[in-house]
Amino acid sequence: MTELVITDLSVSVGGNEILRGVSLTVRSGEVHALMGPNGSGKSTLSHVLLGKPGYEVTGGSVSLDGVDVLTMPTWERAKAGLFLGMQYPTEVPGVSLLDMLGASFAASGIDASGLSDRLSEEAERIGFGQKFLSRPLNVDLSGGEMKRNETLQLGVLKPKIAILDELDSGLDVDALRLVSRRVEAATEEDGLGVLVITHYNRLLTELHPDRVHVLADGRIVAEGGAEMAEKLEETGYAEYASAKPAATAESRFASGGFDA
Ligand code: ADP
Ligand code: MG
Repeated sequence: MTELVITDLSVSVGGNEILRGVSLTVRSGEVHALMGPNGSGKSTLSHVLLGKPGYEVTGGSVSLDGVDVLTMPTWERAKAGLFLGMQYPTEVPGVSLLDMLGASFAASGIDASGLSDRLSEEAERIGFGQKFLSRPLNVDLSGGEMKRNETLQLGVLKPKIAILDELDSGLDVDALRLVSRRVEAATEEDGLGVLVITHYNRLLTELHPDRVHVLADGRIVAEGGAEMAEKLEETGYAEYASAKPAATAESRFASGGFDA
């Protein structure tokens, strides 16, 4: 059982406070959806969790099974079991998916001899063409192909906790179904814990969230069950424009919806 615990996390970028005291816990097998308006800090949270340079943590903590991850370099966080599917995956000319995963396995002391077969199996599972496996990582891939590429890496690397930033962006309806089912399967087969950032309930009809959190202006302003994502699709975020604390928003939601 793994537990990623984010406690009262505050983060600044270039002197601007972007996250203002975010607390969230993701455990093995759980799916948490993080929703919220553009610019609310969702990608910032994903970047800070994996240690992207340029973000200043001004308060709070992040731990994986009780170990502080904020002091670890990114590779160590990955080795400890954290995975980030980026909103905009980075192009890496000259390095294939196989090269990259081979290096990851080697760094973790895992035998990489069956890797090529594993990759092919995983590619098939999400309807991803074999031709992409030898292409340079993310170079000239469409948005949807990049997301399948990220899912493939997740399937092979088997992290403990995955943060998936707009996993659905650019995916066609069929690909969306395959990818979300693959991630859902990982939660059941491997006990993967998921924090998925999305704007659309469509993704969450396949990848069933145990909990939905709404981030607005750097704060979690509402939390609820899967039904919350459906409701948000109808009502939008206008209710949260003034960024009320989560307890207030949640009790309001429980007591009859957003326009109560
Ligand atoms: P979201 O993913 O919720 O749409 P982001 O986390 O990407 O939002 O961004 C939150 C806010 O932080 C935005 O206003 C964005 O412009 C700002 N921001 C993010 N990264 C930087 C940066 N490197 N420099 C300046 N501002 C940034
Ligand atoms: Mg974003």
